[in-house]
Amino acid sequence: MNANEIIEIENKHGAGTYAKQPLVIVRGQGASLFDIDGVEYLDCSSGHGVANLGHAHPKIAEAIYKQASTLITLFETFPNDKRAELMEKITSLVDGLDKVFLCNSGTESVEAAFKFARISTGRKNIVAAMRAFHGRTYGALSATFNKKYREGFEPLVPGFSHVAFNNIEALEKAVTDETAAVILEVVQGEGGVYPASLEYIQAARRICDERGALLVMDEIQTGFGRTGKMFAIEYFGVTPDLLTCAKSLAGGVPMGAVLIGKNVKNLTPGVHGSTFGGNPLSCAAAVAALTIMEEEDLAGQAEAKGGYLIEKLRAIQSPNIREVRGMGLMIGIEMKQKVAPYLKALQEKKIIVLNAGMTVIRLLPPLVITYQQVDHLVDVLAEVLASEMQNAE
Ligand SMILES: *Cc1c(COP(=O)(O)O)cnc(C)c1O
Repeated sequence: MNANEIIEIENKHGAGTYAKQPLVIVRGQGASLFDIDGVEYLDCSSGHGVANLGHAHPKIAEAIYKQASTLITLFETFPNDKRAELMEKITSLVDGLDKVFLCNSGTESVEAAFKFARISTGRKNIVAAMRAFHGRTYGALSATFNKKYREGFEPLVPGFSHVAFNNIEALEKAVTDETAAVILEVVQGEGGVYPASLEYIQAARRICDERGALLVMDEIQTGFGRTGKMFAIEYFGVTPDLLTCAKSLAGGVPMGAVLIGKNVKNLTPGVHGSTFGGNPLSCAAAVAALTIMEEEDLAGQAEAKGGYLIEKLRAIQSPNIREVRGMGLMIGIEMKQKVAPYLKALQEKKIIVLNAGMTVIRLLPPLVITYQQVDHLVDVLAEVLASEMQNAE
C-alpha cells in the first residue's frame, strides 16, 4: 500500500472522530518518527506525552516480547509476578500513596478516582477547574471544562462544578462538606500549558483537609519525568489522596493507574474492576519503563533540557509571541494569533508539535530528545514563528 491508499482507507473506514494529517508514520526511533518513504520527522508531541522514553526503546521491546511469550492476560483475582513487581515499584514513587488500582487509559484512571472518592466519602460532588481536561468518558468528561468536548453529549454526570484555576478564593467557596473530591492538573495540558502556583496547590490540600474532601491530582500528562520530576506534584511538597496517571507509564503500551493514599476508604472486592486492568503484558512493559526512567534519569534530563529549551525559546525575537511557559519538557508558546498555520509550517519542515487550544503551540518531546535536536527545533521554530502567518488559515 502506498501513502495515498493508506490515507484513503483510514478516511473511508475510520469513525471520523479525528482530524487526520496527510502523513503516514510507520516507524520511530528515539525522538524521531519516519514516514512511509523513510523521511525523518522530529517528534515534539510524543503521542500527547506517551513516548517519554522515546520510540522503539529496545528494553521495552524486549520486555514486551518476553512477557508476550510467557503470559499476556490474567484477571486480577490471580496474583502474578510482574504485577506484584509493578505494584511494589509504582507505590514506591510517592510517599504516602501505598496502594494502586491498575487500568488501561487515562480517562479510566480518572473514572476510578471519582468512584473511589464517592464511595470513600459518601458524598457526591466533584470540583474541577476551568480549562481542565480529564478525559472523554462520562465521568472524566463531566470534569473536563471546554465546551468543545462536552457539547452534544449532555446530560453529563450530576455533581460536577468548575472554578477558576489558580484562584484560592474560588476554591474556598466551591468546596463544601458535600464535596467528595477536588481534581486538578499540576500543569493544565490540553487547556493551554498553565502551571499551578505553589500557593494554589498547597491551599487546595488545606481546603480539602478542612472540609473532609479528597484531593485528586491528574498527572496523566505531567507524570513520569515530563516536568523534571517523576511526578510534578513533587515540586509542591503536597501529597494528594489520589493520583491518576497513564500515558507514558508503560513505555507506550496502553495502561493507566490510580495511586491511592490512606484517606481513601471502603475499597472492597467488587467496588471496581477491569478485564484488562493489571494484565501481565502491560505490567511487564511498565516495570521496564519505570526502570529505564530511573536508570536514564529521564526526569533529570527533562529538567535540564527543558530549562535549556525554554531559555532559548524566550530569546526568540518575534512580535507574534505573547508568552513562553512550562515545566521541564512540557512547554507552551502562546501566540498572538491562531497557531494552526504555524503547526502546518513546522510539519512542512519535518517537525511535529501539538497545539493546546487555538493560540498555544505545545511542545512535549520525548525526554530522550538530544541537545542537537533541541537546537534544531529552536532554529526552525524561530524561523517559522517570526513569519507573519495570521492570514494563512
Ligand atoms: C490525556 C489526558 C487524559 C486522558 O487520557 P486518555 O488515555 O486519552 O483517556 C486525562 N487527563 C489528562 C491531564 C490528560 O493529559
